[in-house]
Amino acid sequence: MPAEVLAQAAAEMLDWPDASGKPSGMGVMEMSHRGKEFQSIYEAAEADIRELLAVPANFKILFMQGGGLAENAIIPLNLAGMRAAPGTQGSADFVVTGSWSEKSLKEAGKYCQANVAANTKGGGFTAIPAPPSWKLDPSASYVHLCTNETINGVEFHSLPDLKALGSGAALVIDFSSHVASRPVDWNKVGLAFGGAQKNLGPAGLTMVVVREDLLGYSASICPSAFDYKTVADNQSMYNTPPTYAIYMAGLVFKWLKRQGGIAAMEARNMAKAELLYAALDASDFFYNKVHKDCRSRMNVPFFLRDESRNQAFLDGAKDAGLLQLKGHKSVGGMRASIYNAMPIEGVQTLVSYMREFEQKQA
Ligand code: PMP
Repeated sequence: MPAEVLAQAAAEMLDWPDASGKPSGMGVMEMSHRGKEFQSIYEAAEADIRELLAVPANFKILFMQGGGLAENAIIPLNLAGMRAAPGTQGSADFVVTGSWSEKSLKEAGKYCQANVAANTKGGGFTAIPAPPSWKLDPSASYVHLCTNETINGVEFHSLPDLKALGSGAALVIDFSSHVASRPVDWNKVGLAFGGAQKNLGPAGLTMVVVREDLLGYSASICPSAFDYKTVADNQSMYNTPPTYAIYMAGLVFKWLKRQGGIAAMEARNMAKAELLYAALDASDFFYNKVHKDCRSRMNVPFFLRDESRNQAFLDGAKDAGLLQLKGHKSVGGMRASIYNAMPIEGVQTLVSYMREFEQKQA
């Protein structure tokens, strides 16, 4: 979270002032979600993220609960039947490029026929297979990608054009861990979803951006609160939305606008990532395993060639104010998550510390 957003939320915790600065006499958590105060917070948040991400008018923006993992079930419950033969649950294709898309495949299999279009597990989830090599089911309702694999550090730097690949399916992207770090090519996307807790705000809020023509195909067993059409028809207020998380995300959206918007964030994120990858590539001591054409700008897993030095590296990092660098348990090593709110100075400090550590070991 950007520090100035946290400071603003703290200042407004007990008494939220409206846009003109007039105190409302209550904190955001105390407001009715249907009252005019919260309505204004909601509408501003929706309008700001629509503008930031250049979401076209024929897409709905839904603010839901359940996180990325709940969406792994909610999506097939809503979309799998779209192109299904009568009496069948329908099918969906999955491009498995890391832990998160692997989880999505497994969960969807409970609700529809979930096909593996490609899987890079054999290569240790370090690459993105070329789209023409994907085995796409001509009757699939959607093709699922995780466009930034948070654990493995693999990112799609462009989206496939499913039409050009001969598929009539909708493209579904899990953009949880790089949303708002770069623009989205909406011409190629049917639905995008993400938990808020990386680049948008606190955990508890899930954002879904869905093209209108994909609404209305939910399975009869789909819970009403998770039926995209019901949620869209009720402006995300069919049930009580996560009001405080929406308010916090709204403050982050204003902050993003003050930074110059998504193009400016992308330029900064590229500079941060280039600095770190250049340091890794120049070192004999550290390395990154991901192919250069799909290295993530947000999550950079890296390893020490001498793994016995891992704990010493982490201890020294902590002393230098560099926290949460331990890699995910399924991958090991280290991982630097350099989300939007991480300034370039944070990456510079990390790179200097890495050089110092390496020199001391030599
Ligand atoms: N997808 C991706 C890409 C993620 O990074 C995460 C969380 N780290 C999830 C899904 C799961 O999200 P949640 O924990 O909000 O269910």
